[in-house]
Amino acid sequence: MSVLEKFRLDGRVALVTGGNRGLGRQMAQALAEAGAAVALTSRDQERADQAAREIAESVAGATVAGYACEVSNYDQSAQAVERTIADLGGLHIVVNNAGINIRGPIDELAPEEFQQVIDTNVTGVWNMCRAAAAHLKAQRYGRVINVGSTLSIIALPERTPYASSKGAVLQMTRVLALEWAQYGITVNAMLPGPFSTEMNLALEQDPEKYREFIARIPLGRWGDLDEIGGLAVFLASDASSFVTGAGMTVDGGWTAH
Ligand code: NDP
Repeated sequence: MSVLEKFRLDGRVALVTGGNRGLGRQMAQALAEAGAAVALTSRDQERADQAAREIAESVAGATVAGYACEVSNYDQSAQAVERTIADLGGLHIVVNNAGINIRGPIDELAPEEFQQVIDTNVTGVWNMCRAAAAHLKAQRYGRVINVGSTLSIIALPERTPYASSKGAVLQMTRVLALEWAQYGITVNAMLPGPFSTEMNLALEQDPEKYREFIARIPLGRWGDLDEIGGLAVFLASDASSFVTGAGMTVDGGWTAH
């Protein structure tokens, strides 16, 4: 098999949480372009349906389904897994992308805000991995991609909820890589730097904060949305068969400092 053929995902089924917009949408699109059938989720059924329709229309022959799922709720996560398997005929790739960020000095954040970030970014990933475990183990194959952040490995002020949650995502990734290696399941984390999505609107619209970010990034710019799909397809495919437990940055060199 040629190296490019190893990147193809024909016959594979992927589930992408938070796949209706932002980075998740880009990754859902990229996986579909590589040949996978894709189920994407949003908390809102209509938003999920619309994104699924748009991706299906833009990729010839693609099968794309949209499901409502609140990832911090275990039963809803399990339902998304079950529906994917029932509707699309299997599950091979899980992209745990859904996430939120609430920024602020610790004494200006409410305990509920901290909890909400942890519930979504940490418990959400755990729920989906737990829900997919039996199926992936039984088929002795799986590609799990957890979306961390540069803040999985470095710190910034006013990010106690987010950086704590993303540090946990990287550690969960490593634990599961060890736990599941014997079942042919690889588990890796992507660690993106800043990309222009809804999550970052406030930063992007503040000229001083925006300049501060650019100054940290050797490539001198934020990521373009279409620069995330390549790593997602690599980690989802047989091209990455010897890669597990890794945290891979896509950050323009930020964390090389
Ligand atoms: P967006 O805000 O654009 O998208 C977030 C997605 O997550 C939406 O699809 C949203 O769906 C979904 N979501 C949020 N909360 C929940 C929840 N409780 N249950 C289910 N789905 C939920 O963010 P990005 O695309 O920027 O972020 C995607 C991932 O990438 C996140 O994990 C983020 O931390 C990470 N990341 C992003 C970076 C960036 O610069 N943009 C940098 C580093 C990491 P809906 O609202 O429709 O329910």
